[in-house]
Amino acid sequence: MDGREYQVVVSARRKRLGLTVERDGSLLLRVPVGCETARAEGFVRQSRRWIEAKLGIQAEHRPAHPVRVFRDGEVFRYLGREYRLLVVDEGGDPVRLAAGRLRLDKRAATDPRRARREIVAWYRKSGLRWSQRRLQPWAARMEVPEPGVTVRDVGNRWGTYRPGDQGAGQMALHWAIFQLPAHLVDYVIAHELAHIRVSGHGPEYWTLLRRAIPECEARKEELDDLGRRLWLG
Ligand SMILES: [Zn+2]
Repeated sequence: MDGREYQVVVSARRKRLGLTVERDGSLLLRVPVGCETARAEGFVRQSRRWIEAKLGIQAEHRPAHPVRVFRDGEVFRYLGREYRLLVVDEGGDPVRLAAGRLRLDKRAATDPRRARREIVAWYRKSGLRWSQRRLQPWAARMEVPEPGVTVRDVGNRWGTYRPGDQGAGQMALHWAIFQLPAHLVDYVIAHELAHIRVSGHGPEYWTLLRRAIPECEARKEELDDLGRRLWLG
């Protein structure tokens, strides 16, 4: 209908029609047994405006993670600054940030899988070094014990905090956040540190975080927005 395709599911338990927009943007129409086509069509027609609004919202929030092919001149970000990729034959580390360029060894550059692995490893190493320096002042400011920290792929979250058996637990940060400006990495760090005191995201949690970062809501919004456009390897 209207150039859109609906997957129709007939359900014995239903009395009413129901329409959902799935995560991938596909449309699912649930109908009770014995529902006539005309009734189903009428229902879809009535829901048109709702469908359009829903699809529009989804398109706006859809992740748009870029692809990298590891060619000279390609832009990589580190702590919010842009560095162009330069394929070099200098020996030493496969990836280095020097003289304003992200320098990738030409042996790694010939194999995209290896190039990806080396650059992600570089983000992990550099990000870890940076966050280790940041952790202590933030923990002191928030009056929480300093947890251990690792930088790795944390899946579809930017950070996690796991309490320890005794003392401070373990924080994990996604390597990809180190592409973001420093104030947003700080936000992720403070966000996880606040979980040492309060688990979950109830009012008590936000009160605590707001004390450390008064503009935390704005930062969260900025993170949601920029996070959708990060290179994820
Ligand atoms: Zn959280």
